[in-house]
Amino acid sequence: MLKTVSSPTSGEARDEMAAEERRMRVQLAEFYHLVAYLGWTEMIFNHISLRVPGPDRHYLVNPFGLHYEEITPDNLVKVDVEGNLVEPSDYPANRTGFALHGAIHEARDDIHCIAHTHTTPISAIALKEGGFTYDDFYGAQLFGRVGYHAFEGVTVFADERPRMVASLGDKNVLVLRNHGIAVGERDVPRTFWLLYNAQRAAEIQCQAGMLPGANTPLTDEVRHRSAAAAEELIAGDAFAAKLFEAMMRKVRRDRGPLWARDTGTDRLE
Ligand SMILES: [Zn+2]
Ligand SMILES: [Zn+2]
Repeated sequence: MLKTVSSPTSGEARDEMAAEERRMRVQLAEFYHLVAYLGWTEMIFNHISLRVPGPDRHYLVNPFGLHYEEITPDNLVKVDVEGNLVEPSDYPANRTGFALHGAIHEARDDIHCIAHTHTTPISAIALKEGGFTYDDFYGAQLFGRVGYHAFEGVTVFADERPRMVASLGDKNVLVLRNHGIAVGERDVPRTFWLLYNAQRAAEIQCQAGMLPGANTPLTDEVRHRSAAAAEELIAGDAFAAKLFEAMMRKVRRDRGPLWARDTGTDRLE
């Protein structure tokens, strides 16, 4: 949960915010490495953004030109809602790349983290008129949580932003038709869980579509119940955090330190 300090004038408040930002930089860098580990990257493209603590609407995001495996807590750039740098960096701003994220962050104060991917199963679902079917275990959990946005071109121009926000509405998953997906939640672990859910639903739907015979459909009542149970599961702090931390232990066991001086325990200090 973000700590919002309304008047960060005291040194103590500033120190607390700096420590909180450091913790978030580590966790966001971990998320990039986890997405790379799972094979969900698109070379140097796509982004995961995260709001930093404090009253300003500032966000951390990957600099353009680095693979997700090259992201560290320190090379994440800090930008405003338009994607302009708000702190000096070795890397330039990438306003075009941040446009989709900025539009959602600006409109949805409850969404602090947004992950955007183009994996093949996700892009296949985004290509289909019907989108997600909500009939498999993971798809059912997304029922009622997905908005659909029509493709207007590879770049999000200013005039598309309100239409994109309207397409998302009060949902947490935005299928970018003919393109990919953006999922947003209140923090990194919950966003990872939602992204995982969408990825698995897409993989299963794609595989099932290649098998002969009809799918077994679920009723809307069962889909609703599944989505409600999934939301309840991540309402508390434990579930998504435990899952994320277990996955990061797995990534570090397999890959070793993720960046220079990565102790794997930064977050616990
Ligand atoms: Zn994209
Ligand atoms: Zn993006």
